Amino acid sequence: MGKSKDICSFCGAERPDLFSGLDGSYICPDCIEEGHRLVTNMITEQKKAAKPDEPLELSNLPHPEDIKRFLDLYVIGQDEAKKFLSVAVYNHYKRILQPHDDNEVEIEKSNILLVGPTGTGKTLLAKTIAKMLKVPFAIADATALTQAGYVGEDVETMLTRLLQNCEYDIEKAQQGIVFLDEVDKIARKAENPSITRDVTGEGVQQGLLKILEGAMINVPPEGGRKHPEQEFLHVDTKNILFICGGAFDGIERKIAQRLNTQVVGFDAQEKADKIDKDNLLQYIAPHDLKTFGLIPEIIGRLPIISYLHPLDKKALRNILTEPKNAITKQYSKLFEMDGVKLTFSDDMLDYIVDKALENKLGARGLRGLMEEVMMDLMYTIPSQKDKKEIVVTKEYAQERVEKTDFSRLKSTESI
Ligand code: ADP
Repeated sequence: MGKSKDICSFCGAERPDLFSGLDGSYICPDCIEEGHRLVTNMITEQKKAAKPDEPLELSNLPHPEDIKRFLDLYVIGQDEAKKFLSVAVYNHYKRILQPHDDNEVEIEKSNILLVGPTGTGKTLLAKTIAKMLKVPFAIADATALTQAGYVGEDVETMLTRLLQNCEYDIEKAQQGIVFLDEVDKIARKAENPSITRDVTGEGVQQGLLKILEGAMINVPPEGGRKHPEQEFLHVDTKNILFICGGAFDGIERKIAQRLNTQVVGFDAQEKADKIDKDNLLQYIAPHDLKTFGLIPEIIGRLPIISYLHPLDKKALRNILTEPKNAITKQYSKLFEMDGVKLTFSDDMLDYIVDKALENKLGARGLRGLMEEVMMDLMYTIPSQKDKKEIVVTKEYAQERVEKTDFSRLKSTESI
């Protein structure tokens, strides 16, 4: 391009406000700005490439308040559980990262138990913490685990999953987090104590003890059953944080019984009046877990207990729009990629929440309902080049939801 003092040598625009270079070329303010943007992006990318994921160190370990703030971005409500988790996770990693000194006070491992109805955010909390700390994470389902020798998964398979999630980097896996869901389902069946082959109960609890406490475990690399000829990986679970979750249906009754027998004395009535009977889970104590059927040794290895609230209408409504990766934001992003501005009317969102509540679908059902509403739009919009803006109204949603087979949506509840 020719070098004229009125023409930008980069974009060719003719304008009076050009800057001249040493070689006699000219550049306009727009090109300077664009160049600045490109260079800044390039430097950011280079920095990212040079410094992949910083390993966790005491110096960069986020404080409990930072962890809670991060959780707030993704998980609605559940403030008590968030606080407990933030402190427990901070202490756990402080314990692992402390310089080793034989004379030091040894901080004991503290696994965590989250009690609360299904679909209230237990898995999401555990997953989000692992995401923040960039440590390997695995989810296991206690109901799939069985005592060695019976049909089902050996307890070691949850460690296989953890290893698979960090490309078999044993060092990394040994600092990971395992979320073990449905631990309430392996409770001992109190009504049948004489059972000898308690395949899903006490045997599994016994099997879990060692892993939860911290031991060198032989892990089959591909999961499944152990074979004598198989090469095992040796994983030390001492520093793996286990977050257990369970609905513990009916445990409120046991809590109430304990509280009733505890309130004795001259001020018994006053004490009884202070108990918030609508939210008994907040009083959960190790003793209640024992009456529910967890063996004392397991309870001892889960010293931090917290609880989650059932999600009410307001919480469900917030879940649709507030979290950083809220479902509505995800749909808007997908449509934006086709050049379409997608929004939802307020009464449409209220309607979805009402339907989820009415059909007892919980937070998991919100996604199912939204998917029913959005399916046709997602199918047709990419080919409609003239569509630039869509508002999903209550009437539109109603038409789709009325055709929905709710039994199918309910079946996703258990996933
Ligand atoms: P739980 O482990 O308690 O059964 P999950 O954490 O798996 O439940 O929740 C299922 C889904 O519901 C999550 O993936 C998330 O989309 C949504 N969800 C549940 N609780 C919350 C919450 N408190 N905040 C935001 N989303 C939630």
